[in-house]
Amino acid sequence: MQTVWWLWPLVALCSGDQFRGEAEKIMRATPVIDGHNDLPWQLLTMFNNQLQEKAADLTSLAQTHTNIPKLRAGFVGAQFWSAYTPCDTQNKDAVRRILEQIDVIHRMCHMYPETFVCVTNSTGIRQAFQEGRVASLIGVEGGHSIDSSLGVLRALYHLGMRYLTLTHSCNTPWADNWLVDTGEDQAQSQGLSEFGQSVVREMNRLGVIIDLAHVSVATMKAALRLSKAPIIFSHSSAYSLCRHRRNVPDDVLQLVNQTGSLVMVNFYNDYVSCQQQATLSQVADHLDHIKKVAGAGAVGFGGDYDGVSRLPSGLEDVSKYPDLVAELLRRRWTEAEVRGALADNLLRVFEAVEQVSDHAGTPEEVPIPLGELQGSCRTTYGYSEAPSFHPPPGALLASLSTILLGLCLL
Ligand SMILES: [Zn+2]
Repeated sequence: MQTVWWLWPLVALCSGDQFRGEAEKIMRATPVIDGHNDLPWQLLTMFNNQLQEKAADLTSLAQTHTNIPKLRAGFVGAQFWSAYTPCDTQNKDAVRRILEQIDVIHRMCHMYPETFVCVTNSTGIRQAFQEGRVASLIGVEGGHSIDSSLGVLRALYHLGMRYLTLTHSCNTPWADNWLVDTGEDQAQSQGLSEFGQSVVREMNRLGVIIDLAHVSVATMKAALRLSKAPIIFSHSSAYSLCRHRRNVPDDVLQLVNQTGSLVMVNFYNDYVSCQQQATLSQVADHLDHIKKVAGAGAVGFGGDYDGVSRLPSGLEDVSKYPDLVAELLRRRWTEAEVRGALADNLLRVFEAVEQVSDHAGTPEEVPIPLGELQGSCRTTYGYSEAPSFHPPPGALLASLSTILLGLCLL
């Protein structure tokens, strides 16, 4: 009996290694596509985006959750890098800031071509997998970055933006954020305003993935109902396991299931356990829950590395993904389910978004009403009443009838 008792730790260790080995084997063919990483924000705040500074060397950068050796150890095969500008730039220099964050992502790709390749479609991701490089995509975090302009939305698409998070933690003039659900912000658009709906339609037409992390529940439901393509939550977890309004409630998870959409689980302790401490196992609980309610096709990873201050024990940096995959295997996830969570689910959503896109179609053109724009530093060209070369149709009719009446009188 005593011998058997002594053997237990050895058995546990061996089976642990077995799952870890199996995880690595799977990830060699299907590496992780992560939905949200804030390294570009770190590059701004630490180095003012000067990548050539010695301390900014991504092969040795130590203070961050993300660097090149950690990405390699974590089998990261594709990353949506977050181009983020905080809410206090709204109605100020948000557009300039977002252009600079997009630029730094492009420069990252150019500076480390053996590691990163900037891509803009699902084929590019698959090709990067083959080449053993990290497919690098741009996710713009916060609808305030388009400054309520469909023209800016289209321009950001041309610069490589492939998802837009409709809000950050502030309302835009056209979409409500999650703080509306805590009572800290007032609802403005009851989900999406009319202009917000045209933003969603234009994203569908362009082929930009709609990201619902950070939005209110009403905005989630409005976008899920309106979008012709599946959507993502790039970095959100399950509300029923941690009642934080940044997480996704079960009734929305059902809509996620019905629309073939995707929830990429956030690792931030405050969203995982609703406490300062959390564990890898609790992150796996969120993955299990989303799988149970929305299906195995709805699960992904959106670690939020370098965007958060506290991470679960066992998931301290981007090198730890294989440990999480080992835990899913331990929980009897099938290989197909694991491959889905790693990459296949995101690829499916992205391909569906690409199929819905219609570049020959008519672009949305109606601007946001002047009265809905906020801030005082904008000019109003195009909105001004006079002089105008395009009088409203009613006015045109009135002047025509005056002329005709004049002619009759003659
Ligand atoms: Zn975020």
